[in-house]
Amino acid sequence: MSDFAAELSVAVSAVRTAAKVCQAVQSQITRDAIEKKDRSPVTIADFASQAVVCRALADAFPDDPVVGEEDSAELQQTENAAFLQRVLEELGNIGIETDSETACRWIDHGNGESSSRFWTLDPIDGTKGFLRGEQYAISLGLIIDGQISVAALGCPNLPIEASNDESGGSLFFAVRGGGAFVVPIDGDSFDPTGATSVQVSGATEWADARLCESVESGHSSHSRSAQVAQSLGIVKESVRLDSQAKYAVVARGEADIYLRLPTRGDYREKIWDHVGGVLVVQEAGGSVTDVAGRPLDFTRGKELPENRGVVVTSGPFHEAILAALKEAGVA
Ligand code: AMP
Ligand code: MG
Repeated sequence: MSDFAAELSVAVSAVRTAAKVCQAVQSQITRDAIEKKDRSPVTIADFASQAVVCRALADAFPDDPVVGEEDSAELQQTENAAFLQRVLEELGNIGIETDSETACRWIDHGNGESSSRFWTLDPIDGTKGFLRGEQYAISLGLIIDGQISVAALGCPNLPIEASNDESGGSLFFAVRGGGAFVVPIDGDSFDPTGATSVQVSGATEWADARLCESVESGHSSHSRSAQVAQSLGIVKESVRLDSQAKYAVVARGEADIYLRLPTRGDYREKIWDHVGGVLVVQEAGGSVTDVAGRPLDFTRGKELPENRGVVVTSGPFHEAILAALKEAGVA
């Protein structure tokens, strides 16, 4: 893992710091805010998270563009002054004292264009999960010539010990060719040699296969996945969770399959919704394609225009799933 050691270390620390802001904001969400469907917590955490990660990247790799999901234009409008103030406050709470101009500059460092070497960031993936107090992720990846080379995927609400809810959140990471690993999301020092390696499940029977998918039926068709699961003889109940935490649970063998089945023909997947998760699953021994079996093409800018949906598996089930999707008219 000596290749990209500096990139990995910066990425992991940046995601950990961003997770601190996200955790602080998520813990303030009240039942009242949930009932009112108040999106302000996620707005604040999203901008603060992007500011934190872009600040670290700008500092360590000033020449690398960052393609992030957010930009500060809206935040800078006068009617959003209170939001900007809250972003500064949350940054201050984790020891980053700054002013509006600097914070917006960090956020807008994430408005880069993709190039032969660039980072891509989803500062909060799974915003709906974040607001419900459930799963969300901070996903960061370094793409070089269309290949994901380094990935850091923070899942603050995914217990590091799958069977122990009190065990603290997880941060998965991978460098291409070096395997996939997990460390606690909380932590200041990063020593990759002390990380726990993660592997996909070894299951080969449909009776043992567990499927996961989005909570939001608007993001992945639940009816199609149920149809396909039934046709294949999958009997275990599927798990629904928000964000790239789905890639993480496949990477560590808790689920065998993650299906993201298009709900409308014109939707194009965004690179930041996948980049962290894809490399982690591949390095854990799994397979990732779109519903037609094509590899995800990260050479086309912010979107994956050549792909539709995603199919993520531990490996053995992959071809049969693609065949079933074709049969069902999904691919
Ligand atoms: P998930 O947590 O799996 O529900 O995915 C969340 C991500 O879905 C968000 O970050 C959005 O970028 C993305 N998204 C929004 N609309 C769609 C759609 N129609 N199909 C697939 N993904 C979508
Ligand atoms: Mg997202």
